[in-house]
Amino acid sequence: MATLPILASFRRVVVKVGSALLVDRDKSRLRRAWLAALAEDIGELAAKGAEVVVVSSGAIALGRTVLGFANGALRLEESQACAAVGQIALARVWAEALAHEGITAGQVLLTLGDTEQRRRYLNARATLGKLLEMRAVPVVNENDTVATAEIRYGDNDRLAARVATMAGADCLILLSDVDGLYDAPPVENPDAKLIPLVERVTPRIEQMAGSTASQFARGGMRTKIEAARIATGAGVHMVIANGRHANPLRRIAERGPCTWFLTSSTPRAARKTFIAGTLEPKGAIVIDAGAARALEGGKSLLAAGIKRIEGDFARGDAVLIRGPSGIEIGRGLVGYDAEDARRILGRSTEDILSILGAGARAEVIHRDDLALATG
Ligand code: GLU
Repeated sequence: MATLPILASFRRVVVKVGSALLVDRDKSRLRRAWLAALAEDIGELAAKGAEVVVVSSGAIALGRTVLGFANGALRLEESQACAAVGQIALARVWAEALAHEGITAGQVLLTLGDTEQRRRYLNARATLGKLLEMRAVPVVNENDTVATAEIRYGDNDRLAARVATMAGADCLILLSDVDGLYDAPPVENPDAKLIPLVERVTPRIEQMAGSTASQFARGGMRTKIEAARIATGAGVHMVIANGRHANPLRRIAERGPCTWFLTSSTPRAARKTFIAGTLEPKGAIVIDAGAARALEGGKSLLAAGIKRIEGDFARGDAVLIRGPSGIEIGRGLVGYDAEDARRILGRSTEDILSILGAGARAEVIHRDDLALATG
């Protein structure tokens, strides 16, 4: 039997907070004391060196109170109007709660395309990476005011899993209003047992999830299991825990009731496997011997070492990397469109700035986006 992970051992943690935890449904107002305690937990994680990303729901729940919508289902444009109003409040309360811990918050609103289209994926990932590098905490939500039915996640469980993958996080925490996954629906079965550890998401595990839903949240247990599949498939450990307690992260660290979903991979290895195996290369980059040695030494691919560009690709596409003798030495997600890559090949980083303008990146393929054939 595998052992339970230790929360303090993770370096980059995504914490997803459900609407029902942030908004008191009877009084229709924000649970400030609870949020302050959670911010304290986040501060503790950060103080131990972990980078933290928050994915927070609650925009629609907060906005519907302000706009005076009664309980019950909202039409799409109604929920978008509520999100427009509620998101301002949501961002403010997070900024205040984190500021109290000495942490700067940055609001990031995403739509489905930002994680599913490779070009936008690279952009969104770079923004998250920069915020974390500056020790700020990104507070992410779906951009509900512009997302329409066909282009939305609809629930923040799967959004959080995609954010965790995109950010290269090693742990995803879903704070919910249940302790975790039970072997039977707990409401109907008083004998239902909490499962502390899931080593692999199997059809049997999916069956257990049933369709448990809470009144406020969009996701039930089913979307959480889908999130577990996405996260664990990408090298991210995941835990579902009850947020209806003060200091819920401390409670996980102290081995309170929760369900861990383990991954047998790491974000880096999973990403490399994905790049090496599953993408259709759109072109090729031929590099010189010096660049080939640099890649083997763990460096990014710079324009200076490129001899030739083949094919027509766009930023974010997968390309082959060939050595001087023409043999494939790896694959990677390219940071430039083919046209721009041709303009800067063989050039130094200073030249690139004068050719493409300020803001141009030195790496044609970043080392995190490279999978060498030799492993
Ligand atoms: N994005 C929605 C909101 O902020 C919540 C989605 C969810 O509850 O999963 O209101």
